[in-house]
Amino acid sequence: MRRTVLSVASEVAPLVKTGGLADVAGALPGALLPEGWAIRTLLPGYPAVLEAARGGREVWREERLFGGPGRVLAFEAAGLDLLALDAPHLYLRDGGPYLGRDGRDWPDNAERFAALAWAGAAIAAEGLADGWRPAVLHVHDWQAALAPVYLKERGGRAGSLITIHNVAFHGLVDASRRSALRLPEAGFTPEGYEFWGRISMLKAGLVWADRISTVSPTYARELLTPEFGMGLDGVLRARHHVLRGILNGIDERVWNPATDPAIARYRAPSGKARNRAALCAELGLPPPKGPLCVVVSRLSEQKGLDLLLAALPRLLEAGGALALLGAGDSGFEAAFRNAAATHPDRVAVRIGYDEALAHRMIAGGDAILVPSRFEPCGLTQLYGLRYGTLPVVALTGGLADTVINANDAGMKAGVATGIQFHPVTAAALGEALERLAALFADREAWTAMQRNAMRHPVGWAASAPAYAALYAELAAA
Ligand code: ADP
Repeated sequence: MRRTVLSVASEVAPLVKTGGLADVAGALPGALLPEGWAIRTLLPGYPAVLEAARGGREVWREERLFGGPGRVLAFEAAGLDLLALDAPHLYLRDGGPYLGRDGRDWPDNAERFAALAWAGAAIAAEGLADGWRPAVLHVHDWQAALAPVYLKERGGRAGSLITIHNVAFHGLVDASRRSALRLPEAGFTPEGYEFWGRISMLKAGLVWADRISTVSPTYARELLTPEFGMGLDGVLRARHHVLRGILNGIDERVWNPATDPAIARYRAPSGKARNRAALCAELGLPPPKGPLCVVVSRLSEQKGLDLLLAALPRLLEAGGALALLGAGDSGFEAAFRNAAATHPDRVAVRIGYDEALAHRMIAGGDAILVPSRFEPCGLTQLYGLRYGTLPVVALTGGLADTVINANDAGMKAGVATGIQFHPVTAAALGEALERLAALFADREAWTAMQRNAMRHPVGWAASAPAYAALYAELAAA
């Protein structure tokens, strides 16, 4: 059996990242190598990617790739075996991977990512110029979701897996574009890729792929319900026998307080004090008596940050402080800026995307808040555990699977690593923050929890074999 995988993703850390998808696509190859699987990753040739791909070998070419020529360059960067799809008419632009400078979706996003999926399927079916051909095609989210369709249309034999990192993004396109997207006409039905009269690129992947995975066991169950399935719960229920939930890990080469170059390194909870003091100084916050809570997040409805705004007075009342790093929805940006202006001694807000500051915040905070309404896995609570920065999380998705609640049972058994709250309301979050402050005041209990958290396994050791088993099923089929 060949143990080769082509992974297709629209973002791959550290080259290009807007969220957790990039981290996972970037970490999987390293995690699966010890399991005997060699993963090559195909990603769009955005300007930063082409820069890294300079001197790469051309290994695939197509003259008419959704409006212009495209070629694939093979290269290595950051220890990854990468394939960049160089198609200037689609990717060589000034802006983000998905949005232009005006903050709006690129109008041709469907074609941009259909092209990525097309190249992925072609490589999976016919191989590269140098003869390399994968046994498994692993695609991520809607951006790569048409690949299993194209693969089947070409008669490719590779097994296909689609991973859902967030079901909220469907890649919905007007029905009139189906021939432009090279989709089989017969598939435009409710059993196929049609979604209420439109094309759903994600749904196409969910219907055509041989297996489906998502990034935590709890989210895999939640996806089957109307509350969390975002209209795709019916499709997923019909295919639940091929759906798996495999928990994300973090890249421990990047997120490890003992080796992190961005912080004052530490191995024990006591080492956090220097980082806390430095963070307070950097943000202009007098060190609070209560817990310094940090947030590193996209600012969107999903992340429940409106609940945090509503619960903030209870945290401040209990002696705590808040430091937030995030960007996104302009209403949230303004609301948090406003909170910082109202409480300059207790609330600090940095709007923007800043990798190094994210490390300093997670090292320097006492607790990290993740009050998401839904959360497929969530990575920042895992960073928090690794850094002894106790997570306060909503009881949902991967947050439910990764934190051990400091309830009576958890405390008596001496295993708690954080706080979970439910229902996902401002009142329940407020209570959780008060409980956090009370625990913080009990230094012995707090330090014991920090030790538990730092010992909790958050790498890929548990999940890599689960992916390997899935790949093996697909390669053998
Ligand atoms: P999602 O993918 O839904 O945004 P995750 O928790 O899975 O959420 O992953 C988010 C990733 O993006 C984490 O690695 C987090 O540290 C990072 N991140 C989010 N916002 C920022 C920011 N403003 N600055 C730096 N890193 C950020």
